[in-house]
Amino acid sequence: MKKISVLLAANIPGPYDYLVSDDLDIKFGFFVRVPFRNKELIGIIWDDSSENIEKSKLKEIIEYYPSFKLSETIIDFIKFFSRYNFTSLGKTLKLFIPQTYLIEDIKTLKKYKIDKKKIGNINITNARQSVLDLFEEPSNLFSSSEIIKTAKVSPSVIKKLIEEEVLISVDLVSQQSFIKVEHKKFNLNTDQSIAAKNIISSMGDKNFKRFLIDGVTGSGKTEVYFEAIEEALKRNKQSLILLPEISLTESLFERIKIRFGFEPSLWHSDLSKTKRRKIWQDVYYNNAKLVIGARSSLFLPFKDLGLIVVDEEHDNSYKQQEGIIYQARDMAISLGSFERVPVVMVSATPSLETVLNIKEGKYKNLSLPERIGKASLPDINFIDMRDEEYIKNQWISEKLKTEIQKTLGRKEQSLIFLNRRGYAPVTLCKSCGYRLECPKCDSYLVEHKYNPKLICHQCGFSIKPIASCSECNSKDSLVACGPGIERITDEILKNFPEARIATLSSDNAKDTNIVLKDMRNGLVDILIGTQIISKGHHFPLLTCVGVIDADLGMANGDLRAAERTYQLLHQVSGRTGREKRPGKAFLQTYFPAHPVIKSLVSSQKENFQEAELKTRKINNLPPYGKLASIILSDTDSLRLIKFCKIMKAAIPFSKEIIVLGPVPAPITKVRGRVRYRFLLKTNKAVNLQKYIEFWINIIKKPSSIRLTVDIDPYYFL
Ligand code: ADP
Ligand code: ZN
Ligand code: ZN
Repeated sequence: MKKISVLLAANIPGPYDYLVSDDLDIKFGFFVRVPFRNKELIGIIWDDSSENIEKSKLKEIIEYYPSFKLSETIIDFIKFFSRYNFTSLGKTLKLFIPQTYLIEDIKTLKKYKIDKKKIGNINITNARQSVLDLFEEPSNLFSSSEIIKTAKVSPSVIKKLIEEEVLISVDLVSQQSFIKVEHKKFNLNTDQSIAAKNIISSMGDKNFKRFLIDGVTGSGKTEVYFEAIEEALKRNKQSLILLPEISLTESLFERIKIRFGFEPSLWHSDLSKTKRRKIWQDVYYNNAKLVIGARSSLFLPFKDLGLIVVDEEHDNSYKQQEGIIYQARDMAISLGSFERVPVVMVSATPSLETVLNIKEGKYKNLSLPERIGKASLPDINFIDMRDEEYIKNQWISEKLKTEIQKTLGRKEQSLIFLNRRGYAPVTLCKSCGYRLECPKCDSYLVEHKYNPKLICHQCGFSIKPIASCSECNSKDSLVACGPGIERITDEILKNFPEARIATLSSDNAKDTNIVLKDMRNGLVDILIGTQIISKGHHFPLLTCVGVIDADLGMANGDLRAAERTYQLLHQVSGRTGREKRPGKAFLQTYFPAHPVIKSLVSSQKENFQEAELKTRKINNLPPYGKLASIILSDTDSLRLIKFCKIMKAAIPFSKEIIVLGPVPAPITKVRGRVRYRFLLKTNKAVNLQKYIEFWINIIKKPSSIRLTVDIDPYYFL
């Protein structure tokens, strides 16, 4: 028996030492299954362990998987990922191998052909002759069960013939090997060709580069990266397209089928076990040439990656908030540099991080300034709500109503946007002033009418609608305050009774595909929705977009509030006028002079970027400075406050790092846990991770307290 060390794919430290038999030639990176406490866990062979245990006390591995290993590149990426995101190596490894069945051999239906040259070497029995008769036509292929049935022989006959190499198994190649590239493509315009050439010329071993395809919606960005993917396919390399949300994959999937003539592999959490394993192994063997998916597709075992595309790179959904906290766009860029392949970011409203990287020459900008064909840019206007007459329980201005009416008259479509689910965000008691709150969170219960409930949007807690106030017991004293999209839908129904209306939010997400299809086919006149309808969709007849509360996201107070609002409103406005008919967008606002509204209305993206970058620079905020949060939570607030004081007293001295806090999080209580946070600020060059590690290691944390480190935080509530 010899000693090997194994990194377990689990949230436990390690690596640990195990034993294998001496004759097993076991190598770094290969998968093994081992006993751990009273469980069995999966892991990979690691280079060293810190353990120093006598051989006699070590356990033996259970299984060695000689077919599957992680490449050294991927292992380097795992080490980096774990260090950067402040998460253990084992937890990071688990991202790559979330289930053991992924590395179980697929029982494929093997087929056999015959090797005529070998027949002379063997004894021909009667049984063997009947097998050979089957293969008279040399191109015939049979599975072993077919041979058994037709030639009426026993399995051992077949086994022997395989051993004698008379029967040879044939690889049934996966679908993507039959690729016909250039299935159907457009002639790229000049800007598109230049952009594509830039990316293609950077492909190759030592030449990787980062790009941004920056162009308004409908400027042909997707076709540009398709061109680069085509080149990767020709070189027999794999491509990965990351999308912020899985709901966006469907239309891309269809476009890829038309463009390339094959179906890409779609990676998401809802796949069946068999499908998941098939895709994982296709990626492993380089049978899957093109993968599309959300964040988790970064952790597939690519055999020969050639290109990474991050579509809608600015989208905040790339920031994973639950469990292991990481920014998938940033991790895609790192993966690209480990793999030495180009990374192509795509956006109409690039993140300020990316804009600064372009200014500093780290990324190359490929700009597509014009929309394809006759489509012109939408005409964006504001509606100054201070000039509108205030009418109780009415949120759609007269101006916007007139525009919707005109659009109906032209038999075109309108889209009304409000980023708030449900009927009303707050329910107030007229008698005592109490607002209905979630018992577990510092958050109001939101009234929903389609599925009658009062729901907490923080934790999902819900109760049936109530008739009397839970504080003072007054009857019929509860009033709904403010609008959600269900209430806006009521207002639309009242004003446009003849129109065909649909509403979409994550509450009826299961209807998304049907509603979007109806919208595309002109079966809906007015679509009302939350941000679920803001992205990616292409509705030929849509010419009027109305935003009910353009100021909504701005009050959020976090550092990216303005940036996010700009991106969202730009995206929503960009849904209109995507074909020959000119489109208009109307933003209802109380602050028409706000830089976000001003640059949207004047279509001057650069003005906004410049102004916002300047503010960030003055305050040394990202993308100039660097931030990290430490979030502490406990069910007992006194115990938590006491621990926060201990942490504060232990803050290590540093000239370069400022530690702010602890302060209660703005939504202090969530799911019954009270949350406090520290914010760390520094210049880009300083290693915050090391500092935090040092700090945390000098204090002893009670087990009731949860401590989370969020590097480059996006969420501050
Ligand atoms: P974006 O990704 O910038 O929103 P798309 O790539 O989706 O833009 O292109 C917008 C529309 O124009 C699509 O319907 C696409 O098929 C079409 N298109 C793109 N490039 C060309 C081209 N060179 N010639 C003709 N049509 C094109
Ligand atoms: Zn009351
Ligand atoms: Zn709650």
